[in-house]
Amino acid sequence: MSRPQYDDQNIFARILRGEIPCTKVDECDHTLAFFDIAPQAKTHILVITKGAYVDMADFAAHASEAEQSAFVRAIGRAAQKAGLEEGGYRIISNTGADSHQEVPHLHMHILGGEPIGPLRAS
Ligand code: 5GP
Repeated sequence: MSRPQYDDQNIFARILRGEIPCTKVDECDHTLAFFDIAPQAKTHILVITKGAYVDMADFAAHASEAEQSAFVRAIGRAAQKAGLEEGGYRIISNTGADSHQEVPHLHMHILGGEPIGPLRAS
């Protein structure tokens, strides 16, 4: 299966290039974590890859082992730095059209800081 086209003008690519500011939570060689501009919970963090991956399907199939392990560790580290470990948190990565993914650069949402309810509204 061929890789999806990556749009290097997407908003997260621009944040990575420093063209748009963000409030940083954590950074490593492969990842950047920052607060979501329109939080859906008391604490809402986005963890993104520095590599150009469109979504989780692209990342799972094509990222290196180092990038994949760094991404998982970055999620845990960002949640810990934001004080979410004790109360717990939810991670979500929208992938593709059915998920309502809006920004076509792989990202994990971390939601917490308060009870955030069931996985889907009934
Ligand atoms: P998606 O729907 O693609 O899974 O989530 C994209 C997320 O990016 C949304 O929660 C949205 O609020 C966030 N977002 C969009 N533009 C910006 C921005 O310029 N800065 C930050 N920090 N977050 C953004």
